[in-house]
Amino acid sequence: MKIGVLALQGDFAAHLAALPGAVEVRTADPIRGLDALVLPGGESTTLLKLLEGTGIVEEARALIARGGTIFGTCAGAILLAKNVTNPQQPSWGLLDIDVERNAYGRQIDSFETILDPPYKGVFIRAPRIRRTGRDVEVLALWQGEPVFVKQGRVFASTFHPELTNERSIQKLIFGTNSS
Ligand code: GLN
Repeated sequence: MKIGVLALQGDFAAHLAALPGAVEVRTADPIRGLDALVLPGGESTTLLKLLEGTGIVEEARALIARGGTIFGTCAGAILLAKNVTNPQQPSWGLLDIDVERNAYGRQIDSFETILDPPYKGVFIRAPRIRRTGRDVEVLALWQGEPVFVKQGRVFASTFHPELTNERSIQKLIFGTNSS
């Protein structure tokens, strides 16, 4: 599986390190040759600005249409959502969820915990999934709320699996390509 990691901003280096063989993606054209695209954590407002006029969104849609995989973590999940609040901002709508940005408050804006099932969950100024559509499958929960979801081949986590030494989430999504 040929995996690209969107490398415009955020923690793309950690994703690249977690996915041996994955390549950096900064423009739209190379996405045509990919089977999967990772949208890293970072700052979704900055990402939106950097994405403007690149054609990357259109290529991401085409990737999904031809059966490819997209995985967004944290800011990447915010990009994929249908609706974004706190504050409202545009998003791609490739995943039928609504998210609230920076929703864990200032006191505990970053924390590490164990999810259900027991994946390690590193949360950094994470969004909260406030609604999941009918076609969205919940893959992991924290305190009873969805934090890892999928719809078809579009996956999103509000935490950062790339920032732990565990690779079970990468294996689940990308198969044997990851180590
Ligand atoms: N707080 C960021 C946002 O709203 C997301 C943080 C992250 O990706 N770690 O875009």
